This record gives sequence, C-alpha cells and structure tokens, in this order.
Amino acid sequence: MSNVHELNFLKEKIQELKDQGVYRKLPVLDSPTGPEVILNGKRVINLSSNNYLGFANHERLRKAAIKAVEEYGAGSGAVRTIIGNMKIHEDLEKILSEFKREEAVFVYQSGFNCNAGTIQAITEEGDIIISDELNHASIIDGSRLSKADRAIYKHSDMDSLEKVLKESRKKYKNILVITDGVFSMDGDIAKLPEIVELAEKYDAMTYVDDAHGSGVLGESGRGTVDHFKLHNRVDFSIGTLSKAIGSVGGYVAGSQTMYEWLSHRARPALFSTSLPPAAVGASIEAIKMLMESTEYTDKLWDNAKYFKEKMSQSGFDIGNSQTPITPVIIGEEGKTMEFSRKLLENGVFVSGIVFPTVPKNTGRVRCMVTAAHSKEQLDIAVEVFNKVGREMGLI
Ligand SMILES: *Cc1c(COP(=O)(O)O)cnc(C)c1O
Repeated sequence: MSNVHELNFLKEKIQELKDQGVYRKLPVLDSPTGPEVILNGKRVINLSSNNYLGFANHERLRKAAIKAVEEYGAGSGAVRTIIGNMKIHEDLEKILSEFKREEAVFVYQSGFNCNAGTIQAITEEGDIIISDELNHASIIDGSRLSKADRAIYKHSDMDSLEKVLKESRKKYKNILVITDGVFSMDGDIAKLPEIVELAEKYDAMTYVDDAHGSGVLGESGRGTVDHFKLHNRVDFSIGTLSKAIGSVGGYVAGSQTMYEWLSHRARPALFSTSLPPAAVGASIEAIKMLMESTEYTDKLWDNAKYFKEKMSQSGFDIGNSQTPITPVIIGEEGKTMEFSRKLLENGVFVSGIVFPTVPKNTGRVRCMVTAAHSKEQLDIAVEVFNKVGREMGLI
C-alpha cells in the first residue's frame, strides 16, 4: 500500500537529479557578502553575487538600517493597505521617484513580488502580454497570474516583435510589451528605443524589468530607461532594491495613475506584510549615495572593463555582454560544472549556469564583478582562471 506521506513521488524526482549529476547542497555563506567571503568554511574571492556596488555590507547602509530599526522597530506589523504603510515606506517611494525621474513609484517586498503583483493588476481578459523569450522567471510567473492572453517574441528580434504586435492589435483591447532591461545570463541590453517606437506605432504599453540595470546603467545607476533617455515613454519601469542597491525590495516607477491603482489592487500590497524598516532605511541611504556621486557606478564599470579585457586576452570566450555581467562560455554542461568546482578549489567562487537556465551546450560560469573588488583581487581571480583553464584545455 502506498503512503503518500512518505513523499515517494518527490524522492523519485530527487533521485533523477542525482542521476543527472545536478543534485547539490546549498552553499553556506558565513560572512557578510562582499568581494571576499567565507564559503563552506573557506575564505574565497566571490565573483557570483549581484552586489554590484558593494552596498550590501557598506558602512552607511548598515548604519541606516540600524537607525531605521531604532525609529520604527524590527517589523512593520501589517500589510500596507491596513496599517503597515510607515512614513519610511513613503520616504523611500519619494526618493525613488526623484531618482528615477518619474511621477510616482510603488514599492513591493521584492522584485519578484513586483512582477507578481503589477502585471496581473494592469492587465485583464481581452488584453495580451507580449514577452521577450529570455525574460526573467518572475515575469513569466507574473504573466501567468493575469487573465490576459500571452505571446512570446524571439530574443531582441524586432521583426518578431512587430509581427506579434501586428497580429494582436485588432484582436485585443490593451497590449503590454514586457522586456528585461538587461538580460541576466548574457549581459546584453534590451533594444529599448526600438521597442518603445514599435509599441507607440501599435498603441501598446511598455514594461521594462530593470533588475540588472538598476544601479548599473544610466546616470549614476538610474537604469536602462535613463541610459536611452526614454523618460516618460516607458509606462512601467521596474527596479529591484535587492541587487546593486544592496538591500531587499522591488518597485515600479511610472505615473500617478499607476500608483493610485496599484495601491488598491496590487495583491502583494494587500495580502503580504510590507518591507521591514531596516531594509527600507538601507535602500533610502543607497539611493542618496547614488544621487550624491557617480563614484560607485564609475568604479563598477572600471573594474568590469579591467576584468573583461584580461579575460579576453587570456583567450576565454566572454560572449557579447554590454554590462558588467561577464559570462565565460564553456559549452558542455558537465565541463562547465567541473570548471566551476575547480575554480572554487583554487579559491574563486563563480557559479556554473547550465541547461535549463541557458540553452543546451551554452553552459557558462557567470562572473559578477563589483565596485568593491580591488584590482589585486581581480588579478588573482584571472590567474586562477588561467591556471584552471589551461589544466582543462579550455585556453
Ligand atoms: C533578480 C531579478 C528579479 C527579482 O528581484 P528580487 O528583488 O531579487 O526579487 C526580477 N527580475 C529580474 C530581471 C531579475 O534579474
């Protein structure tokens, strides 16, 4: 007799993972995140976090978080629509809308939540969502929560997008075109000026998820919309506070009308407790730091350029990234994971990324250089890449 409580159906799936060689334990970090970390008990150079500006453990953010706890406590106690909307949440939205140069900003508990809440609130039956095939999982999940129909266009292929727009225009009421601002696996930037032009031609709304553009692209990290000077031409501009900003949270920048509607209908605001004060205080401080100076973004780009040049000179295939994201493309899945493992044995942590996250035979280790890395740390990392690369016959 089968006993469902033994979860044998899951045990079988876990065995499949083991047979495929992709079963793993979660790595354990026993230090703040930064250019060097203690991972599984060993000090290593970290080239895997999204902490682009080194803000996650920055003295100013730590202090701001502590101050927010002292003023507002550890938790907010309620969802925003009941009594969890503290003044500090409003302060964050105000400074973000200034920073983003948009009329209004609505803040969520994470970037994932933002997509899960916004897309379904702004679309309905009779609408269509048109999405780049490489869009982030949270956009896919967010779109699935909507009653609108969905269509996919080929990655950054404007002919493919126009074809779908043309077919959709007569059939649907509203059209929402969604793209990542920066694609996280390859580091390429969306063709936003062309996307916006096509959307305007077919009277469609635009929605850009700038999780990897926030704090990275544009003037002092204002994002992809600022990078292309498309202010007020993108209807919904999504950012995260969890990557370059160094804290946690997500937001959508746009119009006052958008804000008013989301404050009534965004389900994560209605049914999930608001961000804790510490996270909000840290985010406010980070945005202030970006508005004060371009020091951090300049350092990020300088480091990224330095690292990419060295890796390219060594003979590695670093793809076509236009941002600090630096993929080192290996190809075969097993070889990719072996490369990542050997790098770690030699003191450098770079996670391997393979199918199904990227297409088959395009396995890569993805290097995330940050503003906090020293040139010496980057030099050591490149040396380790060279040593392991030669041992494995990759260069
Ligand atoms: C990381 C990421 C998110 C999720 O952001 P969190 O704040 O970590 O939840 C959403 N969209 C894209 C494109 C991302 O890269």
